[in-house]
Amino acid sequence: MAETNTQPLKIFNTLTRKKELFEPIAAPYVGMYVCGPTVYNNAHLGNIRTFMSFDILYRYLQHIGYKVRYVRNITDVGHLVGDGDVGEDKIGRMAKLEKLEPMEIVQRYTNDFHEVTALFNLLPPSIEPTATGHLIEQIEAVTALIEKGLAYESNGSVYFDITKYNEGGQDYGKLSGRILEDLLNETRELDGQSEKRNPLDFALWKKASPEHIMQWDSPWSRGFPGWHLECTCMSTKYLGKQFDIHGGGMDLKFPHHECEIAQAKGLTGQDPVRYWMHTNMLTVNGQKMSKSLNNSFLPAELVAGSHPLLDQPYSPMTVRFFMMQSQYRSTLDFSNDALKAATKGYKRLANGMRTARMLAYNADEAIALDEKKIADIEKTIAGFYSAMNDDLNTSVAIGHLFNLLKYVNMLGLGQLNAAALGEATFQDLIAHFTIFSENILGLKEEKSEGDAVLEGMLNLYREYKLVRNYEKVDEIRAYFKKQGLVIRDTKEKIDWAYEE
Ligand SMILES: [Zn+2]
Repeated sequence: MAETNTQPLKIFNTLTRKKELFEPIAAPYVGMYVCGPTVYNNAHLGNIRTFMSFDILYRYLQHIGYKVRYVRNITDVGHLVGDGDVGEDKIGRMAKLEKLEPMEIVQRYTNDFHEVTALFNLLPPSIEPTATGHLIEQIEAVTALIEKGLAYESNGSVYFDITKYNEGGQDYGKLSGRILEDLLNETRELDGQSEKRNPLDFALWKKASPEHIMQWDSPWSRGFPGWHLECTCMSTKYLGKQFDIHGGGMDLKFPHHECEIAQAKGLTGQDPVRYWMHTNMLTVNGQKMSKSLNNSFLPAELVAGSHPLLDQPYSPMTVRFFMMQSQYRSTLDFSNDALKAATKGYKRLANGMRTARMLAYNADEAIALDEKKIADIEKTIAGFYSAMNDDLNTSVAIGHLFNLLKYVNMLGLGQLNAAALGEATFQDLIAHFTIFSENILGLKEEKSEGDAVLEGMLNLYREYKLVRNYEKVDEIRAYFKKQGLVIRDTKEKIDWAYEE
């Protein structure tokens, strides 16, 4: 393959608010941590967008030669209703409601999360640690923070001391661009928690009330770890005191990621993360997706088309294609019109993926090289890389992919002879079209049945056509149509394709 990826990768760092050259701490190794789901209910589509964005980053980093350790946790304790330091544990609450063990809730929704991520073709992370599996590490971290004078015990709970931390020259609020005084003014009125010295202090360990189901022994009380602590302990355990990338949805910037920075810096004196990356929101018809507005879809509802706001079902790969049409830092608006357009776009690409697999090079001395097309193909491949290197601009990258698709289709339809491209460019085209769509963007062909059945039906079609049994021919056409497929019957060949 020709060397067409010549520019370096740049990513937008939330911490500096700039696009920066990506330089790993210990190339070719890259450490990447993404805050995973709290497994107390079904994964919703906004979560999927976040994980899909980091899936593309994971795929792309590997494609350009990095060896990536991707850690994405499962939060199975400590995340309280309302995201603050008071209230019930989200999982404990669901366990009570459903009269199940908390670990049954955790297992059920972890399974759901894995099913949904597989449905959208997300690669599994290298390590998927759980908060309850790292209680010892969390208790050790709390102990160390108390010893350093950055945390204090109060009534069996332990809080991180923001005032002490900032006196030491740190600036809590840096990531989210918040100023401590403003934060104090915002929170003062709400503060009814006399256990804390400062309303901004956050829980590292919480003493459990008797009715709290999930609790463990600690030097301070029987209780449970604060939500922010697990990510600090698990990211540094598996990726080191300093690692390359930390990601999550933008709603996690404050307070969750701000607290992670404070804890890690308090423990090690070092900034834990080189590049902080945050994905933007998914909106529905211009409005924020939320349960109260009844515009929050579950992936299963989307695929079944069973939500009042959906005109029809949309396949997982259509949704994946749709989500990649905007760059991860832009808001993405979900509407039936946009989804219908994505359905067409995805099918055109899927047909191209099928065509590309069947194309083979035929040398033909009699055919002159088409230098204009050759140059355009090489420029388009380079363009795809430039777009990805520009903070993963999938929106622009897809435009280049469709330009490659145009050539794949011309070859498939016999409008362009492979020999006119020369073997090197022909192979470049096929390889890059396939790598871009399948390996980097993670798209795949969707079929309601296995290939073998469809191929069998196609053979029957050929046989019935030969004996002019048009009634059967029509039946087979109808069979394909029912699955959103169409038989393409041309002079050169008979094949099936997705109905565009
Ligand atoms: Zn986290």
